[in-house]
Amino acid sequence: MLPHSTIIEVAVPLPMDRTFHYLVPGDLAERALPGRRVLVPFGGRRLTAYVLTLLASSDVNTMKEIVEVLDEEPLWTDDELEFFRWVASYYLHPLGEVLKTALPAGINLQTRRFKGQQGTETLSGGRNIRHETYFRPGPAPDPQRPLGSKAQQVLEFIRQQGDVAAAELRGRFGQCALQLKRLQELGLTAAEQREVYRDPFRDESNERDVSRQLNQHQQAAFESLCRSLDSRVFAPWLLHGVTGSGKTEVYLQAIAHALDQGTNALVLVPEISLTPQLVRRFRARFGSGIAILHSGLSDGERYDEWRRIRRGQANIVIGARSAIFAPLERIGIIVVDEEHEASFKQGDALRYNARDLALVRGRLERATVVLGSATPLITSLHAVEQGRLGLLSLPQRVRGIPMPTVETVAMQGIRSTISPQLHQALEQTLADGGQAIIFLNRRGFATFLVCSDCSQPLTCPNCSVTLTFHRSRGQSVCHYCDYAVPAPGTCPACGGLELKELGAGTERVEHDLAELLPRARILRMDSDTTSGKGSHGRLLSRMADGSADILIGTQMITKGHDFPGVTLVGVINAEASLNMPDFRSSERTFQVLSQVIGRAGRGDTPGRVLLQAINPSHYAIQCAIAHDSQGFYRQELDFRREAGYPPFAHLAGLGLSGTTENGVEQQAELTGRLLGQLKRELALRVEILGPAQAPLYRLRGRYRRQILLKAPSRNDLRRLIAAWMARRTSSSTIREIIDIDPVDMM
Ligand code: ADP
Ligand code: ZN
Repeated sequence: MLPHSTIIEVAVPLPMDRTFHYLVPGDLAERALPGRRVLVPFGGRRLTAYVLTLLASSDVNTMKEIVEVLDEEPLWTDDELEFFRWVASYYLHPLGEVLKTALPAGINLQTRRFKGQQGTETLSGGRNIRHETYFRPGPAPDPQRPLGSKAQQVLEFIRQQGDVAAAELRGRFGQCALQLKRLQELGLTAAEQREVYRDPFRDESNERDVSRQLNQHQQAAFESLCRSLDSRVFAPWLLHGVTGSGKTEVYLQAIAHALDQGTNALVLVPEISLTPQLVRRFRARFGSGIAILHSGLSDGERYDEWRRIRRGQANIVIGARSAIFAPLERIGIIVVDEEHEASFKQGDALRYNARDLALVRGRLERATVVLGSATPLITSLHAVEQGRLGLLSLPQRVRGIPMPTVETVAMQGIRSTISPQLHQALEQTLADGGQAIIFLNRRGFATFLVCSDCSQPLTCPNCSVTLTFHRSRGQSVCHYCDYAVPAPGTCPACGGLELKELGAGTERVEHDLAELLPRARILRMDSDTTSGKGSHGRLLSRMADGSADILIGTQMITKGHDFPGVTLVGVINAEASLNMPDFRSSERTFQVLSQVIGRAGRGDTPGRVLLQAINPSHYAIQCAIAHDSQGFYRQELDFRREAGYPPFAHLAGLGLSGTTENGVEQQAELTGRLLGQLKRELALRVEILGPAQAPLYRLRGRYRRQILLKAPSRNDLRRLIAAWMARRTSSSTIREIIDIDPVDMM
């Protein structure tokens, strides 16, 4: 009979909906503990597995022995494992893959190396970790003989600082290895090797900043948050504040309160607004102790930040959606800024929504959760009405700056991208020394080439989309798969020689503006101009320091920045996003227009917005113009109720894709039929829509069909999908994905 601590339950990072039992040989028993990774034999190969629990016994007869323990410290706490189990069960995703997603990529790299080697790895060992020499004052008193002047300076500096890295000394004194060696021999300094973390913001200056005196609304919101922080129970809040109402100031002060109580803070922001500007604001307020997680970090930087957090060396974590998995303990407050942003939803593999998970993790941690936005989700406002979220509102801009005035420009019959009214307003603004933002909702509306002979647009051979024409690159490009052809060329449909441009992309607007306003300093910001590391921040700072007059851009420019100099905002084609085949298209249009309108007039001069549209009568546009979020909420809620969409139903999407049209169609039909049968067998109230072609029917060479499931009860929805997963016969050539609470309906 084996002693009982030698059986473990593990999860493996494979698409399998179960866990496995393994034996632990005696010499590894002390180290094979929950939260650590182990190497296990699995179907003829070796796999990294995650230890979940120690088992007293197992009914599995043929257990294999684990090969090695990979970590000397646990990667996760029991509480975190509970959270990950919840995630796996809610999103119907294998636990092992959830755990893998939650780890920084850097750690996996290290393990791959290790597998060839047979050493062990700890959080402090391994080759991905760097060391640096630090100097501090040594035990000896003042030197008997005078030192050289450089050595003297170095010594004084070390004494002053108490503790200095070699790199800093080199930066300050140049090459000083000889002096350091001498000082050490004399016992005047002591050196030590210390682990260092790559600091993604090492070049930022260290300005200081103090709390602002809160206005009355901010104060009320702050006090509510303090009360729930003091009570240490789960308290979810919606902070609904118009653009520029001082939401960030409220977060900062509430976070300070949480830190005072000895708890930590997790701040989630959309990737796009994770700018140096935001980070600087946090640094200026809180100094060090901030860890940053976003996709711009290298694997090494990310892994460093992760370890700092795991070791309790950061008490504030700021990050994009994946930061919801940060190994932060004792979380007192979770902030989700711009909670309405679709980018909190992960679009592939584990399709989680970090905004929703913030509430889940907050509940497990008994934390205060603040969802902040100027344009909250319809579902959040509904949750407030039902009492599931507390409401904190900031109805006015700080210092009583008025909301900008908004005018519409009817574009019927106007062929140019910039209307005469907008042109004139721009000239006036520049003459007054102001700055302007030109916003282009490019989704579904870009410059493309159309054949003059057969009128066919140039489309991607792999995806059902038109190719976007990029004048400066001289190419037509697919924004989904990166397919590119030299342009202009000939029409692939009929061989026609003349291709003409249609539609207006950002590049086109930039070109037209440069002609209209030759002296203006124009910046363009979109995914083409911000692909380099730090380029986003550089563009923004040129706007902030006044070295540019006009910023042209897509969604990217609508959030997270505060440019006091911007007094004019122009919107090109305001209704573009209304035509998306998605039940949220009105909500998204209202949100994006409200946000962009809110960019105007944040300084002392009142703002003005000109909104160009062919037909501005839709309620999403009208309510955005009137700054009327209540009115929009009412009308949109009516629409959702009638059409049976959230918050009146829960949704799940099943997507099927494959390289042959027939294969996908057959499998989709089978899936639809099986779902219908299971629904009847289990007597579930679920509406099954489809299978139908996805709006983006071809993507990267794959044909795509989808089934949308709608149900008033989450439980019915989950039971149906779980039953389908158990009964389905998968095809080896068709890929199937499950998307709980889908956000992207394309
Ligand atoms: P939001 O996050 O709602 O868009 P911010 O918190 O960025 O608004 O505030 C907008 C601007 O007003 C910032 O420059 C901020 O420093 C300033 N601010 C915020 N609260 C106050 C206050 N109580 N007094 C003075 N200035 C404030
Ligand atoms: Zn493509």
